[in-house]
Amino acid sequence: MKKTLLLSGNVVAKHFYDSIPSRLKVLSLKNIRPSLAVILIGNNLASKIYIKKKSEKFKELGINSETFNLPEEISQNYLLDLINSLNNDANFTGILLQLPLPKHLDSNYLLNKIDPLKDVDGFHPENMGLLFSGNPRYIPCTPKGIIKILEYYNIITEDLHSVVLGRSNIVGKPIASLLSSKSNKGNSTVTICHSKTSNLSNYTSQADILIAAIGVPNKIKANMVKKSAIIIDVGINRDKKGKIVGDVDMDSVLDKVGAITPVPGGIGPMTIAMLVENTIESAELQKI
Ligand code: NAP
Repeated sequence: MKKTLLLSGNVVAKHFYDSIPSRLKVLSLKNIRPSLAVILIGNNLASKIYIKKKSEKFKELGINSETFNLPEEISQNYLLDLINSLNNDANFTGILLQLPLPKHLDSNYLLNKIDPLKDVDGFHPENMGLLFSGNPRYIPCTPKGIIKILEYYNIITEDLHSVVLGRSNIVGKPIASLLSSKSNKGNSTVTICHSKTSNLSNYTSQADILIAAIGVPNKIKANMVKKSAIIIDVGINRDKKGKIVGDVDMDSVLDKVGAITPVPGGIGPMTIAMLVENTIESAELQKI
């Protein structure tokens, strides 16, 4: 019986990290040093875990990163001043404003204030515009990680039908744009679904590539997917027992699909790896 291919983010991320020391060495010979400033506000547990993992990885690789940990009730003006000072601080080549922000803060307004050349998350409208016009500067980390996994496993997307579940600026919209782009990493036919899509199975069952980014634990079952489909599960959720699970019910679909990213160990590690990559790119771009 044919075995389902596990698309391991851990394996692809390790392959990527192996290339980092020589890349950093080339930069350091030119006196270019990548360095990331992270702004973390409040006590969101998922954000704290992500930032901790990220800081550990940067430390392990010898890349400078500093976290500005601010209380939940911080004012928008204080943040604006901090962003302005980081924009002008040559010690940092990249800035990351960890989302989601507390409700009293306007994330769109604040993201717009980050210097687009330091915007390693790629969420500034200038960077979004470049991405959607097919000339990306910074590709947001999670969609970039998805493309790298597809590349590593030689999955050719051209002429396949990609169905993207979710339309967030962080995952759904950028990955839909990348997969439909006129390039050898795209050229697929893309359908986007969201919470107002009725009869989701109608679409998911037609997907050669299914990208699930909806944040609903184990939503996608075997009867919703096409035989031999490639499943990219972006979701990171807790089930009723507190276990971390994706948006796709792995046990249900495993024998039917052709390839799948596990949760954990799939897109999560790739997101951190691509933050490293974007931070290095920020240093190359600015030659700081
Ligand atoms: P988000 O901003 O909450 O967006 C969720 C999207 O899913 C929205 O477009 C929403 O539709 C849609 N949706 C929600 N319930 C749905 C349903 N039952 N059927 C169809 N569509 C539905 O979330 P996000 O930031 O994109 O993240 C999505 C998931 O990925 C979360 O589990 C998050 O934790 C995870 N994530 C993982 C990584 C990683 O590194 N692996 C990175 C980022 C996010 P509407 O637009 O109509 O509301």
